[in-house]
Amino acid sequence: MTIEQRNFIAGNWTNGEAEIENRNPSDLSDVIGRFAQADTGQLELALDAAAEAQIQWQNAGIEARYDALMGIGQEMISRAAELGELLSREEGKPRAEGIGEVHRAGQFFTYFAAECLRQIGDTADSTRANIEIDIRREPVGIVAVISPWNFPVATASWKIAPALAFGNAVVWKPANITPASAAAFADIVSRQKLPAGLFNLVMGSGKAIGQHLVESGKVDAISFTGSVPVGKGITAAAQNFTRVQLEMGSKNALAVMDDCDLDLAVSCALNGAFGGTGQKCTASSRLVVHEHVHDAFVEKLVAGARALKVGHALDAGTQIGPVVSAEQLQGNLDYIEIGKSEGAELLCGGERLTRAHDGHYMAPAVFSGTNNAMRINREEMFAPIACVIKVGSYEEALATVNDTRFGLTSGIMTQSLSRASHFRRHARTGCVMVNLPTAGTDYHVPFGGRGDSSYGPREQGGYAKEFYTTVKTAYIASGEPQ
Ligand code: NDP
Repeated sequence: MTIEQRNFIAGNWTNGEAEIENRNPSDLSDVIGRFAQADTGQLELALDAAAEAQIQWQNAGIEARYDALMGIGQEMISRAAELGELLSREEGKPRAEGIGEVHRAGQFFTYFAAECLRQIGDTADSTRANIEIDIRREPVGIVAVISPWNFPVATASWKIAPALAFGNAVVWKPANITPASAAAFADIVSRQKLPAGLFNLVMGSGKAIGQHLVESGKVDAISFTGSVPVGKGITAAAQNFTRVQLEMGSKNALAVMDDCDLDLAVSCALNGAFGGTGQKCTASSRLVVHEHVHDAFVEKLVAGARALKVGHALDAGTQIGPVVSAEQLQGNLDYIEIGKSEGAELLCGGERLTRAHDGHYMAPAVFSGTNNAMRINREEMFAPIACVIKVGSYEEALATVNDTRFGLTSGIMTQSLSRASHFRRHARTGCVMVNLPTAGTDYHVPFGGRGDSSYGPREQGGYAKEFYTTVKTAYIASGEPQ
């Protein structure tokens, strides 16, 4: 089925000034749909409508917000199988992961629906007599959401749900590689009782629509997930005093210690390095392995990587789907050559695969004999490529894990409580995993990193309010001020 999809601007489904076609990375003969591309004039309409709608929404009361968010979340959860299949068809992750992502996206909405009702604020006595102080949070205004393709529904949901819950209007520019999931999501939101213009889907290129959002003085806050270079460019919005929250790349490391459960370590490494075809900001692309278990670990890791079933995202049994696009695949193959030229030993994978359908398939790759100075260990590859770094001690492992400009997640595989505790305290990352893959987080607690991985307040859970609200301090005289 080919989808024809328009933008949702100021409460109306609107034709674009141009169109893009979207194909299934598992089967390039499968045209998923044609999607409208807005121009900046249409974006301006969305921004003006959002400004009016935001005031209505702020005054609509918290139960209206609760009802709308709960409605969106419940519909996403009940349609997870159908929407997850669409997501997998356009992004390439195996069907179960696509379904899981849509289910999780729904959970962000049901979580933030409940957050609408959690209106506990602060009060204080004034230093002056007969005056009371009330401190409460108010919406920021218009929030621009710029989201990536690798978690096209979940990432957008963990931004859009809190934005709406805290009374803001949303202008959403999804990634152009995954417009079908965005449009299906927008359709669900559009059927809720929201003021016209409160929620806008503005599909279009990053260079045109994304850049205009950055430069527009009409946007109060931008929440972005994507690459470091684009994230850096988005900080220009601060010239207009627009708030900015950035989640970007990483180079996460899993430390495998000599006292670990080796099979568990291998399974966590395979999951973290190759799940989602390695296209996760939380992927374990560096495996920092103690020399005492290095050879046994590598042998099992390579056997595990070779056994992974790479195939069509919707085929039963597929564990690793295709890479999302031809450009991404070429970038991955280039990194394989870079790794070889740097002296790393390619133990398995790294080549393009052919399957029954023409798609962007790649064999999961393991490099050994790498060191932390190599480009393959310093740059985010976003690829099914794992690089093993051999170390002689826990201290060297920790130093290696921390030797990166990024800092999103890290992990340690160990049976020692003292090492686990020490690592938890000293790993310089926003999330730390003990005996777990570096990827895989919950929806009710903060998510984010340090260094080049993140900028601005944390996303998700109760911490999300720091970005999506502004604090007002009111002084109320209850008698004659003295
Ligand atoms: P980008 O950073 O280019 O894209 C992310 C989002 O930003 C998309 O919606 C994109 O739109 C938009 N965008 C692009 N240019 C601009 C701009 N000038 N102003 C405002 N918005 C813009 O990432 P890519 O999709 O190109 O992926 C490239 C690399 O980025 C990956 O290989 C990976 O390393 C990293 N990445 C990291 C992610 C993470 O979760 N940490 C997620 C995605 C990518 P459009 O789609 O139209 O270009």
